[in-house]
Amino acid sequence: MPRAAQQHPAQQHPAHEHLPPTSVPPLADLPATPDVAVIGAGAAGIGAARRLRAHGLSVAVLEARTRLGGRTVTTSLRGHPVDLGAHWLHAGPINPLVTLGFQRGEPLRRAAQESHLWVGRRPGRPAEEAAFGRAWAVADRAMTDGARLHGADRPAAAALPPGLGPWGQRVALVHGLVSGRPLSEVSLHDFPSMEYGDNFFIAGGYGAYLSRLAAGLPVALDAPVAALDWSAEGVRLDLGPRGALRARAALVTAPMMVMQEPSPALRFAPALPDPVRAAIDGFRPGVYEHVVLHWPSSPFRGRDRLASLIGGRLQPPGLLTRVDGTPFHYFELDVPLALRLDAARAGADGARRLVRETLAEQVGRGRLRDLAVPAVTEWRHDPWSRGSWAVVPPGHAGARDLLKEPVAERIWFAGEALSRAQWGTAGGAFAEGERAADAIAAALH
Ligand SMILES: Cc1cc2nc3c(=O)[nH]c(=O)nc-3n(C[C@H](O)[C@H](O)[C@H](O)COP(=O)(O)OP(=O)(O)OC[C@H]3O[C@@H](n4cnc5c(N)ncnc54)[C@H](O)[C@@H]3O)c2cc1C
Repeated sequence: MPRAAQQHPAQQHPAHEHLPPTSVPPLADLPATPDVAVIGAGAAGIGAARRLRAHGLSVAVLEARTRLGGRTVTTSLRGHPVDLGAHWLHAGPINPLVTLGFQRGEPLRRAAQESHLWVGRRPGRPAEEAAFGRAWAVADRAMTDGARLHGADRPAAAALPPGLGPWGQRVALVHGLVSGRPLSEVSLHDFPSMEYGDNFFIAGGYGAYLSRLAAGLPVALDAPVAALDWSAEGVRLDLGPRGALRARAALVTAPMMVMQEPSPALRFAPALPDPVRAAIDGFRPGVYEHVVLHWPSSPFRGRDRLASLIGGRLQPPGLLTRVDGTPFHYFELDVPLALRLDAARAGADGARRLVRETLAEQVGRGRLRDLAVPAVTEWRHDPWSRGSWAVVPPGHAGARDLLKEPVAERIWFAGEALSRAQWGTAGGAFAEGERAADAIAAALH
């Protein structure tokens, strides 16, 4: 468990959990003796439950929160649906939520390719845009080749070529943001497995889409599983005051950080085999937080554009502008910024001040007159996520595949952490849920 999460007062009440979801689908009652108990109703749990039922198995989904979706949730701010977790449907050609979305006639739209470059309070010049583009290409090639050519794993940062100057620093900063940790803490072997291209968005929000997919599933909300007992036949789930539930098998989709020693929120009895325990404990919590801006007079035009603001002492690691064509923007926080806020115990209001200070330096204070910050997320302090996604540090690249093997033919794992090609994403989590469901069905039938 990350030190910050152990100590921070926001742990019990992360700022984002006060914002209700836009949609609450009807759910079915749990069967008394299901074939499979699914722990967690995020993307992986929803994907798995749908697939298990399609295989003809009975399912009970236990969800600790009072809502569905886990790290995908859409709330309403000033009358607009705004995602507080996942927002991009990445890797369109291999993302099952994109394929399913098109089949269902969901309102998907391809993400814009255009982006903004802003250098020292002005739009970037064509030569600067070209130099920035070259830095991306050189850095990406170096990291992909570095992972392929060198035997031993090392930090992804070690493969970055020197001499890229300020453009290279910006590339490393952005990769560190979307990786969830600075590249010095990310496995080079794991890094290039991610497919990022051909992204989509969905009108009404990603969280609302996942809620639609969960409609009619047998899910118990506000039902945290304290312990999973696999000492006898099948599994027995300890639901605290709600009693216990027995099933033939369990699928665990709780985030890795929630199961990590020394203070797991989900225990196993008997203890998991050593390699499985080591695989779970070896992940590091990724940090990626949305500071949601409502900024009608923002100088950034065009719908859904990423903006790189370069020059100046303070830089936003990530900025998505005019989300869905609205005045909403996401200012993203990475590990260094989150650490700074947590060290000062500054909370959501500290994030608001940091954003104002940074944007004042980048675009001038006069442009911030109508800026409001209606929401700040704190997934790193959320007791049911303890981070935005699980990051593979150097030397730990085998963990994703190791966890795909069942324990004693009755405990399976799934979730974003197990996906190689779509790690850290809702699409990867959903795909992993479906993969585990197929494996469970093959074992139980
Ligand atoms: C701010 C932010 C932005 C992101 N942006 C993107 C993006 O643009 N695109 C993208 O694809 N991904 C993005 N991600 C990542 C994406 O949200 C996650 O990878 C994905 O949603 C994880 O799905 P999951 O099912 O593996 O886990 P979760 O969604 O965390 O689901 C696990 C569920 O298990 C529940 N649970 C935990 N412990 C217990 C217990 N003991 N008993 C019962 N239930 C339990 C949790 O409450 C949770 O609902 C983002 C994440 C964050 C935080």
